[in-house]
Amino acid sequence: MIGNRSIDRLSYLDPASPEPWASFLEQIDRVTPHLGSLSRWTETLKRPKRTMIVDVPVVRDDGTIAHYEGYRVQHTLSRGPGKGGVRFHPAVTLNEVMALAGWMTIKNAALNLPYGGAKGGVRLDPRQHSQGELQRITRRYTSELGGFIGPARDIPAPDIGTNEQTMAWMMDTYSMNVGGTATGVVTGKPVSLGGSLGRHEATGRGVFIAAREAGRRRGIPVEGARIAIQGFGNVGGIAARLFAQAGAKVVALQDHSAALVDEAGIDVPKAGEYVASHGHLAGFRPGAEVSPENFWLVPTEFLVPAALEGQLLPARAQRVETRIVVEGANGPTTPAADDVLNDRGILVVPDVLANAGGVTVSYFEWVQDFSSFFWTEEEINARLERIMVGAFDSIWAVAQERGVPLRTAAFIIACQRVLSAREQRGLYP
Ligand code: GLU
Repeated sequence: MIGNRSIDRLSYLDPASPEPWASFLEQIDRVTPHLGSLSRWTETLKRPKRTMIVDVPVVRDDGTIAHYEGYRVQHTLSRGPGKGGVRFHPAVTLNEVMALAGWMTIKNAALNLPYGGAKGGVRLDPRQHSQGELQRITRRYTSELGGFIGPARDIPAPDIGTNEQTMAWMMDTYSMNVGGTATGVVTGKPVSLGGSLGRHEATGRGVFIAAREAGRRRGIPVEGARIAIQGFGNVGGIAARLFAQAGAKVVALQDHSAALVDEAGIDVPKAGEYVASHGHLAGFRPGAEVSPENFWLVPTEFLVPAALEGQLLPARAQRVETRIVVEGANGPTTPAADDVLNDRGILVVPDVLANAGGVTVSYFEWVQDFSSFFWTEEEINARLERIMVGAFDSIWAVAQERGVPLRTAAFIIACQRVLSAREQRGLYP
C-alpha cells in the first residue's frame, strides 16, 4: 500500500454498502418474478451447495509460522463441474467467496459453458510474501482442498492476486497427490504446462468486445471514445491496451496506488511498462494524479470498473459522468446503484457477461487439455469473439423483449438454464 490511497479496503466494508452475498441474494430476488414455474427452484440458488473452510499454515522465510484462512465454495454443480478462480487478497471473506461463486454459476450459464459455479480464496496479502512463501501457501491450500477439486469436479483458475505461476503450483500439487500429471485440474496455467494461448488476455479482450457491442447498440463507437478504467492488472490493463489500439482515449486510470486523469489521453503502453517495473501506477505521471474520488467524476463514454466489488454505490452512481458502464470486475455495482444508473439512462453491461471472456477461454483450455490437442491463438480469439457476441445478442434480445436491464436479462437466461437442469435431474433421493 502506498500512503492511504489504497483501494484494497473494499467499500462493501463500508456500512452503507451491502456485503457481496447480500447483493447476490437481491439479484436472485429480482430475477425470480421472471422465471415462471421455475421460480419454485430459486431458493436453491440462495444456498451454496458446498462450502469448505481450511486452515493454511506456512513457515515464513524468517522461521515464524503464520496461519491463513482459505475457502472454496461450490455454489452449484447442476450443469457440470465447479468452475471459478482463486483469489489471494487481505479482504477475502467467506461471504465474498460465496457471492463470487454465485456469480460464476450465473456467468457460466449465461455463456452456456458446461459448468456449475465455484470460487476460492485465501485471506492474505500476496505482496507481503516471497515467492517461496507463496509457493508453500498455494501448495498447502491445494492439498487441503483434497478431492474437493479435480478435472471433473471443480476446476480453479486465476483471480485477483493469483496468476499462471500459482496455477502451475496448484496443478503440480494436485498431480503429486494423485500420482500422475493432471493438467485439466486448473486453467490459466502457463502455456508450456497445458495452458491455452490467449487465456492471459482473454478477460480483458472480452471486456473490450462487450464494450464495443454495447457501444454499437447505443451509437457510441469505441474509436474516439473516452474511457475510464479502475484496475490496471490482468483485466483493466489488457482492456486499456485494446481500447487504445482501437483508437479510444484512456482518460482516467486507477489502481491500488493512484488515480490518474489526463483528458488528452494516457499513454497506455508506457503506463504498462512503468507498472511492470514498479508494481504500481503511483509516480508514473505525478502531475496527473488526482484523489481517488475524482476518478469517478471524469466525463467519459465508457467507465470500466475492473478491480473489486462494491465500488459503484448509489452516491457514486449518482455522480458518474458516463454513458456505458462495463463491469470488468465481479460485483462492482450494488443493486441500489444499478437502479440509480438505470434511472439516469446509463447502460450497465453486467460482470456476468462483460468479464466472461476469461472463463470462456478457461473452458477452451480445459477442452484442449482433455483432448491433448492445442489450438492456434487465431482459433481461440475467433471462438471467443463468436461466443461473446452470441451471448451479448441473446441477452440484449431478452432485455428488449422484457423491458429489463441487461443484468436481469443475463440472470433470466442463466437461471432458466440452471434451474431447468435442476428440475430435469430431479431432487435426490
Ligand atoms: N476468475 C475469473 C472470473 O472471475 C476466471 C474464472 C475461470 O477462468 O475459471 O471469471
